[in-house]
Amino acid sequence: MAALVTEEFEYHNVNYQRRLVKCNKDLCKKCPHGPYWYAIVKIGSGKPVTRYVGKNLKSDTLKFYSENPEKVTTYETQS
Ligand SMILES: [Zn+2]
Repeated sequence: MAALVTEEFEYHNVNYQRRLVKCNKDLCKKCPHGPYWYAIVKIGSGKPVTRYVGKNLKSDTLKFYSENPEKVTTYETQS
């Protein structure tokens, strides 16, 4: 999926990006979709992992990821 980052900031070692996403489906009249927020975290020497957050980025989410950055990677390996 192609994505355009419209907003980005870092908070407690987690990078947050607001992206407009193209689904690449033929005849899609709603492209680009979003914008949606994503949280990107890099733990140790591993590859950065991206988690879809949603349309709104709540202060609860910021707090949760800043305190539990490993939860971002857990989500990715289960999906
Ligand atoms: Zn689309």
